[in-house]
Amino acid sequence: MWSVFFEFLIGAVIAYMITRIPFLTFPRIKSWNEQFSPHPEPIYIDEYLIQRLLHMRLFYWLALFFAIIPLSFGWFSLAYGSAPIGFGMWAVSGWLVLSRVTGLLAGDDHPWTKQLAMELQLVRNKAESDESCCNLPYPMWEVSAVRCRSCFKNLLNHSRPDLGRPRSDGWIMGFIRLILTDGRPILASEEEE
Ligand SMILES: [Zn+2]
Repeated sequence: MWSVFFEFLIGAVIAYMITRIPFLTFPRIKSWNEQFSPHPEPIYIDEYLIQRLLHMRLFYWLALFFAIIPLSFGWFSLAYGSAPIGFGMWAVSGWLVLSRVTGLLAGDDHPWTKQLAMELQLVRNKAESDESCCNLPYPMWEVSAVRCRSCFKNLLNHSRPDLGRPRSDGWIMGFIRLILTDGRPILASEEEE
């Protein structure tokens, strides 16, 4: 009985890891992060950041393609190998596909939406216009909001999701945290002023 449960768990964990490969590994290459301040420092809102946000969105959706791997291995395992492992793989990757597709139909429900990229672009436009918050606008994305570094005004009430920078808490702790949060911000955004 326990061995069945254990095998199911192994299958589930393997499927979970495989579908997170794009988001956990691709954006964290060192040469891809040289233009950004290191994690967890505030990050300057420029075109690179907005591009990064859209890349994170792409990696989020790439998980659907990566789900094909545990789905096919799971099928082989169900047919020819260990049924509990295969079932574990199917349960997790099937759930991922279902929840993401229904999320898409119900409206984007993940941290790296196009809507957010547009809001950040508006912050940039405003900082460069005559309506900027102060004479030296410098919008930085802090943990819980986008704020101007010169006048400390809150420019956008949106807490910062994971942006693919290598984690300051080290490879292992960062990995565990990302696995648990799936890149969502840990802090809620600040109250509207
Ligand atoms: Zn300002």
